[in-house]
Amino acid sequence: MRQRSLLLDKLDGATVDVAIIGGGINGAVTAAALSAAGVSSALIERGDFSSVTSQESSNLVWGGFKYMQSYEFRLVRKLCQSRNRLIDAYPSQVEPIEFLATFDEDSPYPVWLAGMGATAYWAIGNFATARPRLLRRSAIESTEPVIDTSRAKGGLIYADAYLPDSDARFTFGFVKGAIDRGSLTANYTELTSAELHDNQWILQLTDTLDGSTRTLRARTIVNATGPWIDELNEQLGVTTEHRIAHSKGIHLIVPRIGSGKRVFAFFDEDERLYYVIPMGDRSVIGTTDTRVDDPNTTVTAEDRDFVLRQINARLDLDKPLSVDDVISERCGVRPLVVDAASNHEESDWLQLSRKHEIEIDRDRGVVSIFGGKLTDCLNVGEEIVKAVGKLGISSKKLDDSWFGEPPASELARFRARVVATESVADDTADILWRRYGYRSNFVLDRIVTDSSLAEVLWEDPRYLKAEVVEIGENEMVARVEDFLRRRTNLSMTEYGSELDDRIAEISDLLGISSRPTVSPN
Ligand SMILES: Cc1cc2nc3c(=O)[nH]c(=O)nc-3n(C[C@H](O)[C@H](O)[C@H](O)COP(=O)(O)OP(=O)(O)OC[C@H]3O[C@@H](n4cnc5c(N)ncnc54)[C@H](O)[C@@H]3O)c2cc1C
Repeated sequence: MRQRSLLLDKLDGATVDVAIIGGGINGAVTAAALSAAGVSSALIERGDFSSVTSQESSNLVWGGFKYMQSYEFRLVRKLCQSRNRLIDAYPSQVEPIEFLATFDEDSPYPVWLAGMGATAYWAIGNFATARPRLLRRSAIESTEPVIDTSRAKGGLIYADAYLPDSDARFTFGFVKGAIDRGSLTANYTELTSAELHDNQWILQLTDTLDGSTRTLRARTIVNATGPWIDELNEQLGVTTEHRIAHSKGIHLIVPRIGSGKRVFAFFDEDERLYYVIPMGDRSVIGTTDTRVDDPNTTVTAEDRDFVLRQINARLDLDKPLSVDDVISERCGVRPLVVDAASNHEESDWLQLSRKHEIEIDRDRGVVSIFGGKLTDCLNVGEEIVKAVGKLGISSKKLDDSWFGEPPASELARFRARVVATESVADDTADILWRRYGYRSNFVLDRIVTDSSLAEVLWEDPRYLKAEVVEIGENEMVARVEDFLRRRTNLSMTEYGSELDDRIAEISDLLGISSRPTVSPN
C-alpha cells in the first residue's frame, strides 16, 4: 500500500512520453519494455493489475497445437518461438510439461494422424520440447489410471509449458520490472477522460478506491484495455481497421485429478479440445468458448454442468465430480481480433484467430493492441516499443535484459546465503526464488532480522509470514483479494471457509485494513 501511495503522488501532475491504459499482460509488458528502453511511461489500471482476462487464462505457455486444426501454421510457429524464449528466460517460472491426449471412437481424428500432427508441431517448435510419442490403451491406464480407457483407441504424449504459479503472478513480474525502472504505475486508477491539446494528451484519472482525481500529461497513449479496447478508442476519437470479438471461457478448480504431473487433453462433445491442468495440489478443468457481447461475464449453471459432464465422461472415478467438488472458478473473455467490418457468424466462431494486431493512429498519437496471448507477451512488448518510435518517441535499443529471471549465478549466491543463515529449508528457498527472483534476498533479510517471520503461514502451497510482509510492502497490494487471488493463488486453491478465518491475520501482515475485503474470487 505504501508503494502505491508514493507512486500515486508522483503521478499527479506528471508528464510522460507514453501513458499505457490497462494493466493486464499487454499493458504490463509494454510498461516493462518501454521503461527498459529508457522511455518515460505511466501504467494505469482501473482494478488491480491482471484482475481481468490475464487472471482467467489456462496458465499455458504454448504454441497452440490445437490451432493447427485451423491451419494457422504461421501463428503456431510464432507462438512456439515465444514459448521457447519464455522457457529459456524463466527457468523456474515457466515449466515444461507433458500433455497426454486420449483418443476414442468419437474423436475427430485417429490417433496416428494426431501423432503426425504432433511431430510436425514439435518440428515447428524447433524440437525444443520433449519428442512426442504414441501410447497404447494399456500404457494410458498404467500412466494415469484415473482416465477411463474403456472406449479409448490410444493416446498421444507431447510437450508444451505452463505457469506453475499463475498468469496473474507472471504478469505482475513485468509490472514490478517497470516500477523498478521508474515507470509511474498505478492500480485502482481509472482513465475517466482524455483530451488532446497541442499534441499532448491531458488525462483525468480517478482513484477507484477513494474517488480522488489526478491529472497526467502524455505525448502518446497505448490502449491495452483488452476487452474494452474499442470503447476506449471511441472515447479517444480513434478509428481502427480491427475490433474485438468477445469469447467467454471458464475453468473449474477441483481437488487433484490423477498424478498432477501432466496435462490431460480430451475432446468435448462439440469436438473441441479441453484440458485438465495441474495447479499445485488441485486441477483446473476447462475451458469453453462461447460468444458474448458483454465482457463482464460470470460462470453460469449451464457452463458448470457442461464442464462437469465432459470430465465425468472421461474419468474413472468412484463418484462423479459434482458442484460440491468445485473449490473455485475462473471466467474470462478472450479479446479476439477481427476486421472492423466483419460480422462473424456462429459457423466460423471457433475458428477465430488468437493472433494480435497493433494499430497506430499518427494524428491522435495512439497505439492500440488488439488480441494476443500471454504466450506472445515478449513480442507484444517489443513491437510496441517500435510502434511508439513511429510516433516520434525515441528509445534505446532493446536487448533481452528487459525480461527474464536473474542469472543462475545469482540463484547460486542466494542458495549459499540460505545455507549460511540456516533461515529456511532448501525446498522453500527454491519456491522463494521462483516467486521473487532477486527479491528473495529481501525475504531472507526479513527472516534474519526477525526469526518469527520464518513461521509458515500456509503449508500447502507454502507461504511464510515474511513473504506476506514483503508482498504488502512492495507489490502494490491494496485489498486482501489482491493478495489472495493474484499475488498468490490461495483463493483459487483453498476452500473459502478455510481462508475466512485467516483474513484478519493476513491483512495485518500485509499492513492493510481487512474491512474492504469482498469475496476473494
Ligand atoms: C479462458 C481463457 C483461457 C486462456 N488461456 C490462455 C493460455 O493458456 N495461454 C495464453 O497464452 N493465453 C491464454 N488466454 C489469452 C490471454 O489470457 C489473453 O490474451 C490476455 O490475458 C489478454 O490480456 P490483455 O492485457 O489484452 O487484457 P486484460 O488482461 O483484460 O487487461 C486489460 C485491462 O484494462 C483495464 N482497463 C479497461 N479500461 C480501463 C480504463 N478506462 N482505465 C484503466 N484501466 C482500464 C481492465 O481493468 C483490464 O485489467 C486465455 C484467455 C481466456 C479468456
